[in-house]
Amino acid sequence: MAGASVKVAVRVRPFNSREMAKDSKCIIQMSGNTTTILNPKQPKENKSFNFDYSYWSHTTPEDINYASQMQVYKDIGEEMLLHAFEGYNVCIFAYGQTGAGKSYTMMGRQETDQQGIIPLLCEDLFTKISDSNNDNNMSYSVEVSYMEIYCERVRDLLNPKNKGNLRVREHPLMGPYVEDLSKLAVTSYNDIQDLMDSGNKARTVAATNMNETSSRSHAVFNIIFTQKKHDSESENTSEKVSKISLVDLAGSERADSTGAKGTRLKEGANINKSLTTLGKVISALAEQNKKKKKMESFIPYRDSVLTWLLRENLGGNSRTAMVAALSPADINYDETLSTLRYADRAK
Ligand code: ADP
Repeated sequence: MAGASVKVAVRVRPFNSREMAKDSKCIIQMSGNTTTILNPKQPKENKSFNFDYSYWSHTTPEDINYASQMQVYKDIGEEMLLHAFEGYNVCIFAYGQTGAGKSYTMMGRQETDQQGIIPLLCEDLFTKISDSNNDNNMSYSVEVSYMEIYCERVRDLLNPKNKGNLRVREHPLMGPYVEDLSKLAVTSYNDIQDLMDSGNKARTVAATNMNETSSRSHAVFNIIFTQKKHDSESENTSEKVSKISLVDLAGSERADSTGAKGTRLKEGANINKSLTTLGKVISALAEQNKKKKKMESFIPYRDSVLTWLLRENLGGNSRTAMVAALSPADINYDETLSTLRYADRAK
């Protein structure tokens, strides 16, 4: 079956202090679903793209395209959560150059109203579960795992003692999985919050020890959501299992633009391998969907660890959303244009 198309949103963040210090100009315009980027070197040249959502953040909340964290959650997170309740696997990922707002969109900040898609979705999941607990025939279970993919290797963020890299294997029925990855049962939003906090700390510590920054790895937060329905007449129990993958991707900036050499260059190539493959997978799925092909065309899932592990969450019987994070500043023109093109290929 061809999957439904990917929901694509772009979100521009406010200027940061570095951009303000350089007196940067804003080169992004948004109107309705359309996002336009102006070429700072050729003011008459601009390119426009249409997305499902174009989110603006650096003016007053009255601006028509302004979107709060809650708005982004309502449009994208809640829709995906409802698909998970229907039994689909879902995936939300944030793409963009380092500092463009991926973590802010996915995790957000601790303060009130600043939480991102992951905490809001987890909170909403438990609210929706307790709302439907009046139905005695339904029972639910929630398990989470949290991993980091760095240079095509997988680390467990919920079990930092497990310092080694984990093996990626394939189960004949369940598909690709990570061997020995901790999968912890949770019964409340607070449980998840504690795990997320310790996972995020483990991520920073691991990055510091290895002299890297977490912006060079992909963080994948998985929720395995099981719904059991008991039919009191027939005494049968049916089960629906959905995997929700929430992914904060590594920064998309090209390795060569930072003058990378040696390990850094290799690292850049590996990170780009996952991002490039993800781009290929998503656009192949988008093509397949447009053509409404009955036969599955070739999708290169196996070409990177990230896409291999997300195989069950992309295409096929799953629903996917992407948020492309953008800087508003002229100094980031090349990276921002390349992010817009990446997002455009997903449609
Ligand atoms: P990335 O994860 O892409 O490297 P971050 O999410 O860490 O980038 O964002 C960089 C900085 O910009 C952070 O201080 C973050 O809080 C801020 N920021 C990003 N997006 C927004 C936004 N939409 N509104 C307000 N602040 C934002």
